[in-house]
Amino acid sequence: MRQYHWGVPRQILVLTLAAAACAAAQSSPPPSAREIIGRIKAHVGVAWREQTVDTFKAGDPDTPVTGIATTMMATFDVLQRAAAEGKNLVITHEPVFYSHLDNTDTLEAGNDAVWAEKMKFIASHKMVVWRFHDHWHMRQPDGIMEGVLRPLDWEKQYNPATRLITIQPTTVGELAAYVRRKLNAKVLRVVGNRDMRVTTIALQPGAAGPTAHRSALQRNEVEVLLIGEVPEWETIEYVSDAVAQGKRKALFLIGHIPSEQPGMANCAEWLKTFITGVPVGFVPAREPFWTAE
Ligand SMILES: [Zn+2]
Repeated sequence: MRQYHWGVPRQILVLTLAAAACAAAQSSPPPSAREIIGRIKAHVGVAWREQTVDTFKAGDPDTPVTGIATTMMATFDVLQRAAAEGKNLVITHEPVFYSHLDNTDTLEAGNDAVWAEKMKFIASHKMVVWRFHDHWHMRQPDGIMEGVLRPLDWEKQYNPATRLITIQPTTVGELAAYVRRKLNAKVLRVVGNRDMRVTTIALQPGAAGPTAHRSALQRNEVEVLLIGEVPEWETIEYVSDAVAQGKRKALFLIGHIPSEQPGMANCAEWLKTFITGVPVGFVPAREPFWTAE
């Protein structure tokens, strides 16, 4: 079909059109952080909640976006690496300022030096930090769970109806080593008997809380519960007691970051399916722990 005219050779016409499209792309201003978040809200596939932690945490939402970094935790170290890559919109799964609601009142009141330096870095690099927690979990399938099952190779072993993972029989010790290796966790702590043979796992990445933890452990079939973290006097003591009573239960504490981190690598891949013209990448957060010799 000869859609092109005036005897212009087709290749030249295509190249000219491509150059024109390129020039148009360059001349249109980069989207603001607010516009990018608008696109995310339109694509996530669930109604946006009024009560949510998924809000701007730092920076001016109308800042033009030079690049997007998804991350598990917007630590100072992550912000530095994102800035070095020219990515000034940081989409973080977890808080920036050390509590679930990112309330900075006491930090501000005390003129906290760590908080102040973080704020200064964000401002001087024209960065914007936005949290993507509730709706990324609410998405179908849960964007974190989808991302975490992949490196564990449990996509087929996971049953969304029961929300349990069924594997070939193994020991708690072998399973812990497997999970640690696959999720790249430096420090994985275990409560329970190393040699107990298990097949049925409940996985609750992050910090779902002791009530959610117990409701999984109360199910007879659940032998091992995998979590990110919990205060030590809660689920940990509960499982210690269960073990002391001879009940067939074990608990893995993977660490908050390694337990959910692949879910934010997954988020970067998802963003690339509908955000064009702005570089998108995943900046992994470093696991904070090491152990003594
Ligand atoms: Zn989470």
